Amino acid sequence: MANYFLDNQDIQFLFSHIEMQQLAALQERFAENGDADYAPTSSAEAVEDYHRVLQITGHVAATNIAPNAERVDRDGNLLNQDGTVTLHPCVRENLDWMAKADLLGFTVPRKYGGLNCPNLIYTIATEIVARADASFMNIFGLQGIAETVNAYASQEIKDEILPQFAEGKVTGAMVLTEPDAGSDLQAVRLRAHQDEHGNWLLNGVKRFITNGCGEILLTLARSEPEMSDGLGLSLFLSERCDQIKVRHLEKKLGIHGSPTCELVYENAPARLIGERKRGLITYVLALMNGARVGIAAQSLGIAEAAYRLARTYAHTRHQFGMPIEKLPAIAEMVTDMQVAIEAARALTYETSCICDKENNAMRLVEWHADQLEKEELKSLKKEVRQLKRINSMLTPMSKYYASEMCCRVADDAIQVLGGSGYMKDYAAERHLRDARITTIYEGTSQLQIVAAIRGVLSGVFDSWAVDFEQKEYDDLMLTELKQKLITGRSQLSEAIIFVKKQPASYADLAARRLVDGAIAIMTGHLLLDQATNNERKKRVAKRFVQLKMPILKMNTEQVLSGDSMPLDEFQLLAGPVPTTA
Ligand SMILES: Cc1cc2nc3c(=O)[nH]c(=O)nc-3n(C[C@H](O)[C@H](O)[C@H](O)COP(=O)(O)OP(=O)(O)OC[C@H]3O[C@@H](n4cnc5c(N)ncnc54)[C@H](O)[C@@H]3O)c2cc1C
Repeated sequence: MANYFLDNQDIQFLFSHIEMQQLAALQERFAENGDADYAPTSSAEAVEDYHRVLQITGHVAATNIAPNAERVDRDGNLLNQDGTVTLHPCVRENLDWMAKADLLGFTVPRKYGGLNCPNLIYTIATEIVARADASFMNIFGLQGIAETVNAYASQEIKDEILPQFAEGKVTGAMVLTEPDAGSDLQAVRLRAHQDEHGNWLLNGVKRFITNGCGEILLTLARSEPEMSDGLGLSLFLSERCDQIKVRHLEKKLGIHGSPTCELVYENAPARLIGERKRGLITYVLALMNGARVGIAAQSLGIAEAAYRLARTYAHTRHQFGMPIEKLPAIAEMVTDMQVAIEAARALTYETSCICDKENNAMRLVEWHADQLEKEELKSLKKEVRQLKRINSMLTPMSKYYASEMCCRVADDAIQVLGGSGYMKDYAAERHLRDARITTIYEGTSQLQIVAAIRGVLSGVFDSWAVDFEQKEYDDLMLTELKQKLITGRSQLSEAIIFVKKQPASYADLAARRLVDGAIAIMTGHLLLDQATNNERKKRVAKRFVQLKMPILKMNTEQVLSGDSMPLDEFQLLAGPVPTTA
């Protein structure tokens, strides 16, 4: 029987390659299990549970969700006249399957009925679901709302809301974007004020909200009208009510099963999450970081689906008396699609593991400090600071790299299928339409670069790479590949030193090339690490390094040239703003 977890060789490999027991031990320490009788009694048992949960996810994805994807894409969801949304019957059905299989409380603690899985397991599940239907992944992927509630809301809110998430009775939405506040969330204007009894009420408009028709909305709002920046914003929880209407359901290029809503708030009741003024700078930042790893996983799922179509087609389609996979151009395209997916998966899963380490260390520091020895507490605090720095670079890198990879792979899949790829007869065109959003939401690729470049310029990247460079391989090929990565880093360092002496605008211009180089080196090391005892992975690592290091060299030369024509001669090169469309 089809199973999107068991049939994926690379995910199977990574499940055994990654130190799952270590991750489980971190996750289970002081776990809030309440009286749940399904809590594991050891790390080994927890890992068995993870495997089982992913196996169930793989089964539901392949047998229930994937067969619905085409209909959902064709028909979409429905906006009713009263400002409510009727989900496509298949989307409803998908949610019911997920609820029945207990897959809607992945990271929620067991005392609320959840599975208490590490972020990594949720990331793998997200990839699997996205492969079946990228648009449904958007609703499935909003379990991060429950995570934010668990991390920052009052006990009263947690007791009330989290069991509903775990049971699949509610879904959530992350309500941030407004017409004038997209990439720049500091510009959010939706107002939050308190009535004479101290109850919070929200007024304003939000747009582009995925699942804005869901039952639990986390809304970023301006609670401090005298402050115009991000510090004036707080986070609020609202439940679906008559004072929040869906005014418009967006018509989109792809992800048709995911309702994208414009919301109007008119004196909508809300409860404050955590503390005032920390809405954007603490809570939304954490929520978005989790969601960014989620979009990286969604990108992997879409790319995997597109790749599988292309791989099969290249094998079965004959031209010039041979299967087209034998034609060098197609062979190269198919090979590099697969290598790109494995590379992005390596980076995304690594990021996810580091998220787990950070989340768990922070949980111990913040919630269990009195149960720890003084020395351990001190070293955990240090670890949290280090992991935060690494994560604030790795998370945007993963989102950027996986989503750009996904668009390329989905595009190449259509090319491999030729004219058939352009037709609705195959899912390739849907995958490309679905892929295209991944570089935009949860922060565009440009914004991911803005976030990631800080770590590249400040030395976080270098200290990460140095650790890997010290690894010894008792294999000549791996040693040579490592040397290429070391050479690549020294070329990148030269460009970084140069950029630091230039005006800030030049650093912004060069950022993409520098971040690309850093990602290539980091991913190269991760692939070498995977290759230690695996002949196929050695070839994957070799292909990756051989492809990426010349590009890195070219990019660093470009940066070192100091060419800033797009800034200096913008008017001349871009020409006048057209007066007609
Ligand atoms: C289908 C869909 C679903 C969405 N779901 C949600 C949701 O659930 N919740 C939610 O709150 N939002 C959601 N969004 C909004 C999404 O997060 C924003 O669209 C995205 O962050 C970009 O904002 P914008 O569209 O206003 O573009 P803009 O911010 O106007 O950006 C336009 C262009 O300028 C570039 N740019 C802007 N600032 C910079 C900078 N500093 N440096 C370099 N380049 C820059 C951008 O990269 C982009 O290329 C969704 C959007 C879509 C399309």
